Amino acid sequence: MSHRKIDRRAVLKAGAALAATSLLPDALLAQSSRSPRALPNRGEYLVRGATLLTMDPKAGDFAGGDVHVRNGVIVAVAKAIEAPGAAVIDGRGMICLPGFIDTHWHLWTSLCRSVIRIDDPRRSYFPVTNALGRHFTPEDSYRSVRLGLAEGLSAGATTVHNWAHNIRSPEHADAELRAMRDTGIRGRLAYGTPQGGPDEEPMDLAGLAKTQRDWMPNDGTLTLGICSRNVGDTTNQLRGNISVETARKDWGGARALGLPITMHTSGPSPIKLMEEANLRAPDVQLVHPLLTTAEERRILAARGVSYSTSPTGESRRPASAGVIQLGELLEAGVKCSISIDHTSAYACDYFQCMRILYSLQLHRFGQKMPLTAKRLVRLATLDGAIDLGIADRTGSLTPGKRADLILVRTTDINITPLSDPYEALVTYAQPRNVDTVVVDGRVLVRAGRFTALDHAGILREAAESTAALRARANWT
Ligand SMILES: [Zn+2]
Repeated sequence: MSHRKIDRRAVLKAGAALAATSLLPDALLAQSSRSPRALPNRGEYLVRGATLLTMDPKAGDFAGGDVHVRNGVIVAVAKAIEAPGAAVIDGRGMICLPGFIDTHWHLWTSLCRSVIRIDDPRRSYFPVTNALGRHFTPEDSYRSVRLGLAEGLSAGATTVHNWAHNIRSPEHADAELRAMRDTGIRGRLAYGTPQGGPDEEPMDLAGLAKTQRDWMPNDGTLTLGICSRNVGDTTNQLRGNISVETARKDWGGARALGLPITMHTSGPSPIKLMEEANLRAPDVQLVHPLLTTAEERRILAARGVSYSTSPTGESRRPASAGVIQLGELLEAGVKCSISIDHTSAYACDYFQCMRILYSLQLHRFGQKMPLTAKRLVRLATLDGAIDLGIADRTGSLTPGKRADLILVRTTDINITPLSDPYEALVTYAQPRNVDTVVVDGRVLVRAGRFTALDHAGILREAAESTAALRARANWT
């Protein structure tokens, strides 16, 4: 890795030389010859002249800076870099930052979009996903996950934690992992049980082991874990609830394979119960931090358990379901991160997630517990990587890490003119401002368009699957 700093004249000279050759960004879009829909090559390029937010305290930020990427790795981050032979991505007028890291997303429910209704409890999330979920074929799972991931990429996500709670067979797990691989995103599949399955039946640990054998390790972009049904929650029969004894079997099976665990805590908080059962450990991520006590937060911090908050959905819940406790959790030293949860009742928008968290924090605490725009951007990037245990390879623009980065246009009407980039991201930005998305060094979105994904085909096949699922489930 090199941090070569050179004077501005030399950079301009190098830029002129590059402009005179055919080494334009399109060269990065060349696909390997395996298939017409293969992902773009990783290649070598320089993001030049962007407002750089590295989220790396050592590297700092740059009002105008360069990022050098080669074969999927961030080689250097500096004010000006000489990289003869590298293609150039013009970052002027853009904010360059690490891609968003989504730490909990039920991608398989993407097909249920607008079948789920926000104004009719009989057609809300759980009734619909239970009714349609039983009819999902592996192909439906593939199309649903691919649709969600395509939207996620276009919204700036470079890593997702795919909370797959409708694994009806190992083939369904294969389908979800294929969709993740084919879209080029980084992520973890959290292998679950079939939606609507019997509560006290242990999960399919043999299927889990087979999936691990078949898929792990790979090129480093995909990892595996499990998603557990709720423990001790009797408030929602459709959600999936298990006893501590069944949790011991499921969690023990995952841990025997070295796999991490994630679980919702919707409803009464199970943290004391889990602590008494000695199930807490740093390999556990919890979701929806709404009803924790101060004692429980101390337990979480001591055990290294992380918490993912999904502001878009959580802020819609009634007050009786609790309030997003981000301020209390951060104060207690609990690892926190941001997630979209699902996109079957709203669209994928991490800028909006940050805005909601800011608004709620201010609403609850005023200036007693300030939450800065920079802290929010860190929650959506580096903190997600810490939550998922992959901060050694992503989450910041740090030389040596894999190149997962996005460029956000600041010349669009809703965000210009640019003064403070963090303020711009948290207060004004929208997914439509996401210009370029790079995952593991591959340019997957450029000028707001997919470089390899078959946009029209993804939409068509998703619509076909939804129509067929509705027919099979007799859902009118
Ligand atoms: Zn969820």
